[in-house]
Amino acid sequence: TNNMAKSKFEYVRNFETDDTCLRNCYIVVRLDGRNFHKFSEQHSFTKPNDNRALGLMARSAQSVMEELEDIVIAYGQSDEFSFVFKRTSNWFKRRASKLMTHVASQFSSSYVFYWKEFFEEQPLHYPPGFDGRVVLYPTNRNLRDYLSWRQADCHINNLYNTVFWSLVQKGGLTTTQAEDRLKGTLAADKNEILFSEFDINYNNESPLHRKGTILIWKKHEETVTRRMKLPNAEEKEVVVTRIKRGVESLHCDIIGEQFWEEHPDILED
Ligand code: ATP
Ligand code: ATP
Ligand code: MG
Ligand code: MG
Ligand code: MG
Ligand code: MG
Repeated sequence: TNNMAKSKFEYVRNFETDDTCLRNCYIVVRLDGRNFHKFSEQHSFTKPNDNRALGLMARSAQSVMEELEDIVIAYGQSDEFSFVFKRTSNWFKRRASKLMTHVASQFSSSYVFYWKEFFEEQPLHYPPGFDGRVVLYPTNRNLRDYLSWRQADCHINNLYNTVFWSLVQKGGLTTTQAEDRLKGTLAADKNEILFSEFDINYNNESPLHRKGTILIWKKHEETVTRRMKLPNAEEKEVVVTRIKRGVESLHCDIIGEQFWEEHPDILED
């Protein structure tokens, strides 16, 4: 094909709308599994938390961070994952649809690609999908509040689900009875039910379930032995040390100050 040639049809490109993300803002792409209430049932997820599914979500998110540019932190829980592009990113000229669709498709294909690593003999019955949205945050405070909002959501849902499934699985209630029992209860009431009826101290539950998954970049040294050809055709072994970066997974609090003090390089001025 001759790339220089312009056809009379070329004008239709002008119908494309500009969706450049405002400069200087963090670009957040959040994905959420389509109809995962049903998907989780059809694939026999353990309730309230299936660790295979959480592991697969995190693995897919890691692939997104490794394959795409400029993501500085990702946060996931349940069937959702948020990806934060650095505010100075100019990847795909900051075009929202390009960023969002690359994140969604890389994530979806990875979810299927790595399925067997996590679910082993449980077959994947149909191709899952994920929706995506783009949100811009102009200040560090706004971005932190966004991530705090998602982690608070994780906590609220997990506390509810932990009591709900205890009532059903250990308390012998039907799902409708458990729902009724929890209507109008506050966090303190839920903690009390867990403690007095099921001997569960919520704070001792797995951090993966209470806090969700945080993915960040971590630098580490890597030493490799390289064979080098010398000018006189002789071969020599040389030890080379390189700084490499890899994705690190955490399940800690990101609402308070501590995480951000320990990782000052994530947020920019
Ligand atoms: P929508 O398409 O609107 O997002 P949805 O059915 O995916 O609908 P969500 O609000 O996204 O609804 O909720 C996701 C649901 O998927 C949870 O309520 C839960 O039932 C299920 N789910 C997701 N991850 C897990 C997991 N790791 N273990 C058990 N269940 C899970
Ligand atoms: P970008 O990420 O910018 O889209 P790209 O490498 O995908 O980069 P495209 O302009 O989309 O570039 O071109 C797709 C290329 O993929 C084609 O130029 C061709 O080389 C190759 N390709 C796609 N489909 C086929 C096919 N069915 N048979 C052979 N080659 C193909
Ligand atoms: Mg939803
Ligand atoms: Mg969903
Ligand atoms: Mg969801
Ligand atoms: Mg292409």
